[in-house]
Amino acid sequence: MTRCAVLVVAAGRGQRFGGSLPKQYAPLKGERLLHRTLRAFTSHPNISRVLVAIHPDDSAIFAETAVGLEVQSVFGGATRQDSVLRGLEALADDPPDYVLVHDGARPMISARLIDAVIDGLSTAEGTLPVVPVVDTLKKVDGDAVGATVPRDQLVRAQTPQGFRFSAILAAHRKYAGESLTDDAAVMERAGQRVITVIGDEANVKVTTMDDLARLTAVLSETRIGQGFDVHKFGPGDHVTLCGVKVPHANALEGHSDADVALHAATDAILGAIGAGDIGQHFPPSDEKWRGAPSDKFIQHAHELLTQQGGSLVHLDITIICERPKVGPHRQAMVNSVARILGVGGGRISVKATTTEGLGFTGRGEGIAAQAVATVRV
Ligand code: MG
Repeated sequence: MTRCAVLVVAAGRGQRFGGSLPKQYAPLKGERLLHRTLRAFTSHPNISRVLVAIHPDDSAIFAETAVGLEVQSVFGGATRQDSVLRGLEALADDPPDYVLVHDGARPMISARLIDAVIDGLSTAEGTLPVVPVVDTLKKVDGDAVGATVPRDQLVRAQTPQGFRFSAILAAHRKYAGESLTDDAAVMERAGQRVITVIGDEANVKVTTMDDLARLTAVLSETRIGQGFDVHKFGPGDHVTLCGVKVPHANALEGHSDADVALHAATDAILGAIGAGDIGQHFPPSDEKWRGAPSDKFIQHAHELLTQQGGSLVHLDITIICERPKVGPHRQAMVNSVARILGVGGGRISVKATTTEGLGFTGRGEGIAAQAVATVRV
């Protein structure tokens, strides 16, 4: 069987990225970018070995990133070309038939593309995934537009680039120290035949913070959480629903302000991000929360959502009772929830229903509330 190793180049400092963390270690949906990249290869059935060229300063963060992955590492050099040569030399101890060289900062690599790059090596010394240039290309001098560049022979090169191992090792050894920007260029320099395979527009290279933000948006998903709560009536002259005081012949009993609507809404948001329930975050046994406004509870849930890089798309609350009548206060409740969460009123819905005199709400023993939260994470 043909043995195919992968060399992932992750030794760069990412000067164009900003921040203290090299881009390959930036978090992407709760996972380091490099981890996602490596996972694509370690989970592929035709890859026999994965080696990562890292910067010596990144030893600790790499060790943490690679936990649970079957990968090895080698220290890279001052340039990308140097890092690749060092990686190839490390693989030469137990030389594979093929090697794929891949940028650590391209986390969206698909199994299909890995297969295509490997398949191409049955007929050539090297394979290069390419995507078409769709925009018109111009030569410019400062802000003056000059000639239009014909693009019919131009493509954009991606990675992984695949090579027969002995050919790429020989080429890299021979042209070490030259500043060639990718490995296909090293093979071209050595006069070896490299063929193209169809690349993948989704296989983007993360170079700037904007790239990372775009990728995060592409990978975001919609989640839904639901919440339910009940509080019973006791003596008093008002209830608090969605943070709005509503005069009534009774009050709702509860440890906090007993805002049954905000409690259901809090649980809905917590549910959407799998963060447990309100009782877990604010135990009724804790004296701290006696009489507390429920704003705090829902703001905390919303903060947890934000910390996960998520945002509230919509919150739909249904209050279930015969009395008090919710209708006259509905808009005030929408405004109140929007203000508490700092979101637009268009993202909040408050509805009410009776149970036609049936059950505990029908008998006027208390109020129930349901909520559904839709979030993007
Ligand atoms: Mg409650």
